Amino acid sequence: MEGKHYINGEWTIYGDEVIQVMNPATGEQVGTVPNGGEAEATAAIEAAAAAFPSWSKTTVYERADLLMKWHDLLLEHKEEVGEILTKEMGKPLAEAIGEIEYSASFISWFAEEGKRLYGRTIPASKEGKRIQINKQPVGVVVSITPWNFPAAMMARKMAPALAAGCTFVAKPAKLTPLTAVRIYELAEEAGFPKGVINLVTGSASKIGKVFTSHPDVRKLTFTGSTEIGKELMKQSSETMINLSLELGGHAPIIVLDDADLELAVEGVMASKFRNAGQTCVCGNRIYVQSNIVDKFSKMLQEATAKLKVGNGLEEGVTIGPLVDKDGYEKVEKHVQDAVSKGAKVLIGGDGKTENEAYFYNPTVLVNANSDMLVMNEETFGPVAPIMSFEKDEEAVKLANDTRFGLAAYFFTDSMSRGTYLAENLDYGIVGWNDGSPSTAQAPFGGMKESGIGREGGQEGLEAFVETKYISIKL
Ligand code: NAP
Repeated sequence: MEGKHYINGEWTIYGDEVIQVMNPATGEQVGTVPNGGEAEATAAIEAAAAAFPSWSKTTVYERADLLMKWHDLLLEHKEEVGEILTKEMGKPLAEAIGEIEYSASFISWFAEEGKRLYGRTIPASKEGKRIQINKQPVGVVVSITPWNFPAAMMARKMAPALAAGCTFVAKPAKLTPLTAVRIYELAEEAGFPKGVINLVTGSASKIGKVFTSHPDVRKLTFTGSTEIGKELMKQSSETMINLSLELGGHAPIIVLDDADLELAVEGVMASKFRNAGQTCVCGNRIYVQSNIVDKFSKMLQEATAKLKVGNGLEEGVTIGPLVDKDGYEKVEKHVQDAVSKGAKVLIGGDGKTENEAYFYNPTVLVNANSDMLVMNEETFGPVAPIMSFEKDEEAVKLANDTRFGLAAYFFTDSMSRGTYLAENLDYGIVGWNDGSPSTAQAPFGGMKESGIGREGGQEGLEAFVETKYISIKL
């Protein structure tokens, strides 16, 4: 597949330089995209700026119709787009198709939610005055997204931005740009007017600099690592553009001794091993009450033994490759560090590499402690370290002892113990007996160094509007 930039309604290439897109399960080339930079980013922003006045004046109903056409096309082509996603990213095909359905769910949700972008009128304290609040689209939006959810992270930004009346420029990750290209082709087929949606691929730092400095940009929405999020925040200080930052996580999972252990294991499997552990909301460290830790660990080991590692296009595979060599080496380092500090491997603990493909076996570690890397840094791999605790308060303290605050999970059947945990965990998303809380209707996002802003739900639409106060003296 040969991808191109999509600028002002045209598929285009400026120079000869390309980025090769590789299949992480085979090491083979899947396709190429152009290695764009400043010129392409500038042209895309200018096209989006030129399209903004007319797009922002369309009715929400016209915009919803286009979004729904795009939604329907995406679902019609979900197997085909899912296959591109698996080939460039590695996740099992069923998960990839699931990601396309999940992406479509954001498009339909925001097509509807855009119709409820209400302003309000506030009773004034003085006679003859009217206080009116209007919501209006923020303007040109630029987006930067990561490789681990090449479809969903972009759709979650693009759908609300378009529904609100903004125009859009996307820069996908260099490892996984082809899914974005195909999704844009379907958006073009849906009929978005030229300049409303634009796509540029290439050098992240060059494109990022234009995104954060061009005077026509009004908002940057970023999903990726905390490190790059901070860098983009610094760069944006000159232009004061509106920022949404969905950053890294280090999710704790707490299992209390009254939990339904089968449900807890199911939740841990869903949270920990989806996408081979390469999600921002993956459970990274598991705290289990000491009187059930042995039983729970054995159950988790048994469930983990049923996972099948391999090429995501093969039938029955549930764990694909890690995305690249760096990712593999990080997982290896975390496991070796844990073992050197006293952890015991119940299952896994190793991997295999061949032809530039990096597979790590799903791993369960017991006797983990707070000094281990795996209990402090994002592992981004299929490793489940288990540490025991005595009291509920101790579990909350351990869980909150991090600079991250994206997602946390706990399992208990007690209303009062659960309420205590839910209210005291410093996390933007809390799953109570639920290992997969993400959904289009709910606000997703982090506290602390996990970011600023929310995506999904009403908040996800609010992120793309300005609030204007109009004071009228009659
Ligand atoms: P990353 O290295 O921060 O990259 C994310 C995006 O930023 C990519 O498109 C990348 O482009 C771009 N980028 C890199 N350097 C840049 C620069 N100097 N200026 C502008 N853009 C730049 O993160 P990643 O490794 O792809 O993704 C994994 C991270 O994302 C993890 O930390 C994970 O937790 C986080 N994440 C968070 C959420 C959430 O919702 N909170 C969701 C998913 C993932 P290139 O790929 O072209 O280099």
